[in-house]
Amino acid sequence: MTTIDAGTEQNVAGSGASDLTAAARDHLWMHFARMGAYQDKPAPVIVKGQGAYIWDDKGHKVLDGLSGLFVVQVGHGRAELAEVMAKQAENLAFFPVWGYATEPAIQLAERVASYAPGDLNRVFFTTGGGEAVESAWKVAKQFFKLTGKPMKHKVISRAIAYHGTPQGALAITGLPAMKQAFEPLTPGGFRVPNTNIYRAERMGAPTDPVAFGKWAADRVEEAILFEGPDTVAAVVLEPVQNSGGCFTPPPGYFQRVREICDKHDVLLVSDEVICGFGRHGTMFAAEKFGYQPDIITCAKGMSSGYGPIGAMIASDRIMEPFLEGKNFFPHGYTFAGHPVSAAVSLANLDIFEREGLNQRVLDHESALGNTLKKLLDLDIVGDVRGDGYFWAIELVKDKSTKETFDLAERETLIKQFLPGALFRNGLYARPDDRGEPVIQVAPALTCGQAEFDEMEQILRGTLIEAMKLV
Ligand code: PLP
Repeated sequence: MTTIDAGTEQNVAGSGASDLTAAARDHLWMHFARMGAYQDKPAPVIVKGQGAYIWDDKGHKVLDGLSGLFVVQVGHGRAELAEVMAKQAENLAFFPVWGYATEPAIQLAERVASYAPGDLNRVFFTTGGGEAVESAWKVAKQFFKLTGKPMKHKVISRAIAYHGTPQGALAITGLPAMKQAFEPLTPGGFRVPNTNIYRAERMGAPTDPVAFGKWAADRVEEAILFEGPDTVAAVVLEPVQNSGGCFTPPPGYFQRVREICDKHDVLLVSDEVICGFGRHGTMFAAEKFGYQPDIITCAKGMSSGYGPIGAMIASDRIMEPFLEGKNFFPHGYTFAGHPVSAAVSLANLDIFEREGLNQRVLDHESALGNTLKKLLDLDIVGDVRGDGYFWAIELVKDKSTKETFDLAERETLIKQFLPGALFRNGLYARPDDRGEPVIQVAPALTCGQAEFDEMEQILRGTLIEAMKLV
């Protein structure tokens, strides 16, 4: 089996082991990490965050160009958020939303529903994104069972897309190598091509954006017809696909997918675990890209990471059968809608409003893109693409032919060199080769030109070093 690096293991090992790094080596099982690599090299220990910066235990200051993991929208170290959490913990640290409601959970559900497009009025809390996707699939299946279409259970999603690790969400994930260790997964997941227009020719697709958008959307209908519309419950798509490197939707793509879903009575799930909460300058990215989903899944930016929380937001139509008689959704999580996480999410969203963070992203997204596009003068940079504060830099071996790196070169670049070198040079970003090799950046929504320039400079210096290795 090929080694999986959803987290693209960060070999940012420094020298010498402190007590903390020794304890990390002996006891901490880091996620998506080749643990063997840390037996003789210390793991980086992050001890502090302030604004757009983090510090390690040796005092090394690093620009957090990824908002942790597409999470910390308002930046690190907001004392007012810590105070809200302390107050909530003192008043009511925990009570479940299993047949009971808490004030923060009610207020947050109302607030999130007010931001969600159309009639997406019902908020089912989770503790993170994978659980939100899992919940969306389960609710889609049960919705159709309750409404007389019990065969509808399959889900269509896109190649290379990541939708989480629970076995249902993993079955929706389009990364075969990430699933091999756990097969057989939940049956019913089927893949269609993604919207990687940079590689349109390889897919035999048109290169004109409008024609490409129609081509890619029509693959969704094709898959529904291949499987039989009576068996398909949902299509799960990110507004901008993260894995593979920020595949933005071509013009008309989501509008055509919406038509297809309506035609075949298939639910459109917008997986906004990354794209929600300001990443694209709107509370939900479906609004930015002009489509109406039946379900939104979200997490990360809802609390800016100050507390773990996620949600599956369902439309009135989906909720309707669950309001009848003795019907109920036999599904939930102990910590879902946790009072402390919900309270801090509300305060986080207050910051969004007070500081106009969505507008800030809309005002500065072109500047971020244009700053990163300066890197296109390097031979190793084939494409710079993205939207909002969510960008990818695709690395190529030959820019004119778009030839990519082979497995050994990827190992050198993406696994061995870039994570550590970027970190040493002062930037935390994400080298990733789940598709073609890319470096991803997604800074805090508070960042501006000064941080964009700093990112570009560090990326430039590090990529010039990298070009000598491959
Ligand atoms: N869906 C998408 C689009 C994601 O990017 C992620 C995580 O990055 C998930 C789901 C899973 O979220 P979590 O890690 O919170 O379970």
